[in-house]
Amino acid sequence: GPDALARLVDGLMRTVPDFPGPGVQFRDITPLLADADAFAQVVAALADHVYGPVDLVAGMEARGFLLAAPVAVALGAGVVPVRKAGKLPGPVASRSYALEYGSAAVEVQPFTVADGARVLVIDDVLATGGTAAATVELLESCGATVVGLSFLVELQGLGGRALLPGRDVDALLTLP
Ligand code: AMP
Repeated sequence: GPDALARLVDGLMRTVPDFPGPGVQFRDITPLLADADAFAQVVAALADHVYGPVDLVAGMEARGFLLAAPVAVALGAGVVPVRKAGKLPGPVASRSYALEYGSAAVEVQPFTVADGARVLVIDDVLATGGTAAATVELLESCGATVVGLSFLVELQGLGGRALLPGRDVDALLTLP
């Protein structure tokens, strides 16, 4: 059930203080990825959450890729990498968003996103929500419908959900 999954994720995640910079509590999911049974359970849980039919699973660079691909296979969907600016050969669609200092951009190749495609967005951690909100806008600017977003971990205190109003957002583990 959901509690067992939350405990599984909690138990296999490392919390690394001050990485990649001062004050950040980095949630490191690599021990979970390296555990065959836990990884399979987490992928199955992400694929089991019902958003209706899904044509594509979009994963955010870089840990989102590792989750989006097996979830896409489980759902019989394709996978689309959402990358940081400058990594994908063109043509690309781009969406920039504000960071605490400066800005960043996410990019996708629009020819991989069919008009009307139903897309599930996947990432490891929902923090401030900036990346997820920009990804939703990016995909929908390409003509997709984002049917929902799933995360392993939601850091509730950072308020990411507020940037995703009206969206179906799911997290296997919610931390205060
Ligand atoms: P945000 O746009 O603030 O929601 O940040 C989301 C992106 O940054 C995701 O791709 C996460 O992988 C990464 N991220 C942000 N904060 C953390 C954190 N505390 N631990 C691990 N990853 C994080």
